[in-house]
Parts: sequence; C-alpha cells; structure tokens
Amino acid sequence: MSDQTQQLISDVKKQDFAALAKLLTVLEREGPGQLSLHPDLLHPRKLSFRVGITGPPGAGKSTLISKLISELRSRNFSVGVIAVDPSSPFSQGAVLGDRIRYTEHFSDSKVFIRSLGSRGSLGGLSASAYLMVRAFDLAEFDFVLIETVGVGQTELEIMNVADFVSVVLVPESGDSIQAMKAGLLEIADLFIVNKFDRPGAEGFKNELELSLHLDPRPNALQTKVMSMIALQAQGIEEFWSHIETHLNSSDWKQKRISTERLRSEAHALLRNQMERKISSITAPIEGVDDLLKVLESNFK
Ligand code: GDP
Repeated sequence: MSDQTQQLISDVKKQDFAALAKLLTVLEREGPGQLSLHPDLLHPRKLSFRVGITGPPGAGKSTLISKLISELRSRNFSVGVIAVDPSSPFSQGAVLGDRIRYTEHFSDSKVFIRSLGSRGSLGGLSASAYLMVRAFDLAEFDFVLIETVGVGQTELEIMNVADFVSVVLVPESGDSIQAMKAGLLEIADLFIVNKFDRPGAEGFKNELELSLHLDPRPNALQTKVMSMIALQAQGIEEFWSHIETHLNSSDWKQKRISTERLRSEAHALLRNQMERKISSITAPIEGVDDLLKVLESNFK
C-alpha cells in the first residue's frame, strides 16, 4: 500500500470526507488488492448500521431517503449514503442525478453521499459495494443508507452488505408478486408501500400481507409491511422505529462476521480480482495471431 493510501486511511478515520471520497476512488479503481493490505478496513473500530433501500425506479426511494436523512440528522446521527445504479456506466456523482436529488443535505457536514455505477465488469459492482461499505465503516458513520435501483440479481447481491433491508413498492406497480419471485422476500426485513395517497394502495397492501401469510418460507412471517407517503414525510417515524428495533434487538453484528456473509464477500472480491488479472492479460493483445496463440497455449 502506498504512503498516500496510508495517509488517506488515517484521514478517513478522522471523518475527513474529502479523504473518504479519494479513498473510495482508489478502492474502486484498484480493487480488492488494497483491502487485503489494510487491517483497519477489515477490522474497523466501529460498525455503521447499514440500511438497504431497494425497489423499482420511480417508487419514491430518493424522496424517502432524503426524509430519512432528515430524521436521522434530527437525532444527531451521522449518515453516509451509497446510491447504486447498475444500469449506469458512470461512477462518482453522475449516477441517478443524486447531486440534484439530495441537494438539501449537501451542505450538512455530517452527511456524505456517493454514487456507484457499473464499470462494466462482471461482479465489479458488488465487489465495489463491499469495499465501499468497509470504507464507510472506517469513517465511523452511525448509519449508512444503501440505495439500489431495480429488483434484479445485482440488487439482491448488493443488499447482502446491508444489516436491514427495506423494499419500496407502490400500489400501481403490479410487480409486487414479481418482486417476491425475484427473491426479494428472502432478503426483505420490511416492505414499504409508498404513495399511499394513490388509489388502490390499501388493497395492494392487503394483497402483499396476504401473500406473506401464505408464504411457507419461515422468514415470511417476520417480514413487516408498512405504508408511507414519502412526499409528505408520512411514515418516516415508523420506518425509523423499525430500523431502531432491528438495531437494538437483532444479532446484526454477529451476522456481519457470519461464514455466509464473509464467503459472499470473499467470492465477490476474488472474482473481481481475477477478472482484473485476466483483463490485464487479454486487453493488451492486439493482433489476431497473438490472440490465437493465447488460446492455443492455454487450451490445448
Ligand atoms: P425513485 O426513482 O424510487 O428514487 O423515486 P423518486 O423519489 O424520484 O420519486 C418518483 C416520483 O414519485 C417523484 O415525482 C416523487 O415526487 C413522487 N413521489 C414520491 N413519494 C410519493 C408519495 O408518497 N406520493 C406521491 N403521490 N408521489 C410520490
């Protein structure tokens, strides 16, 4: 590890957000190799409580997150936000237009927001997410909010890093059942039916609750359902109380260091590291003859 990275690490531990921004860039660019070298990232002094917020585009996630940030700030907690958009090829800011979506919190010295888009490499996004949340722990935030857009495999993978997972759905999205099928039920601690001011909201919520009751999976009964009108900050306090209950009564710290969780992290980081190695071999080879030689020599 370079002296510069060492310096960044010690600055991040002093809650220097400019240093955190730089460290995240280094981690994203250079990958997991950096992590294995630094014990502070692997064994942080404090664990930030990570709240995952996922759901389809337009469900009201960023409206809700902005209000949740205000709620947490009113309780004097520091908040880190990671906004992940797998469909975006951009990183660091351009994604999701979060510079616009979270403007009201930009001048707050206890709020740090970072975007993460796909850099195209397979598994790269979840590897980056694993590394980023470790860097956020290093900065000793009280809470880290992880926003992902969509309900696909990538989102499920990323939600692995969260200690509490909430899924935001809306009455008009007929895809609640779709979401269940996609595996959200397995990971959700809380379903939030947002836009409860819209027609059909009550019916949608009942339907969702019923399908949870009928679901044979053991965790289905523990999954909570609540309604919200994020636009009017209605339900934000209830959301907070679900988070607080989980924070105080679950074994989330234990789960962080569970075999299952660490295996997933090791898998994502190793896969990313190997991909980088493979690319470093294949990318510089230009000529057809040289590429054929690689194929011949490796796959006889
Ligand atoms: P995201 O894509 O999930 O982050 O969704 P946004 O937070 O950008 O919200 C999408 C749209 O829904 C915006 O126009 C919001 O103003 C609107 N919206 C968010 N929450 C509510 C709500 O509770 N009720 C209604 N009617 N609209 C909402």
